Amino acid sequence: VPPFKKLFDQAKDAAHEATRNAERIKREIFDLDKRKAEKQAELENASAAIERADSFVPDIGGNLQCPNCWVLHGFHSDVQPIPSANHVDWFRCKRCNYEFGFEP
Ligand SMILES: [Zn+2]
Repeated sequence: VPPFKKLFDQAKDAAHEATRNAERIKREIFDLDKRKAEKQAELENASAAIERADSFVPDIGGNLQCPNCWVLHGFHSDVQPIPSANHVDWFRCKRCNYEFGFEP
């Protein structure tokens, strides 16, 4: 058996192993790119929410508005009065259930 044959065979095996590694790494990079795109979209949503806070209007046509729905999601959502056990007026957002009370 010529000594080179064994070495060439081993080189081929090493190349196969490297090929498998390369395929795995490509899949990992693909997944990371996907996760990065998702995080980028989340960041854009968060940045838009920060900007919306400046344009929050607490009363539209006499209806109190939910700040969470506007800032976080860009929705106008009315808050409704809910029963109160004392002199504090309570309200709840029908969309996100945010509650708040204030003394009249
Ligand atoms: Zn809400």
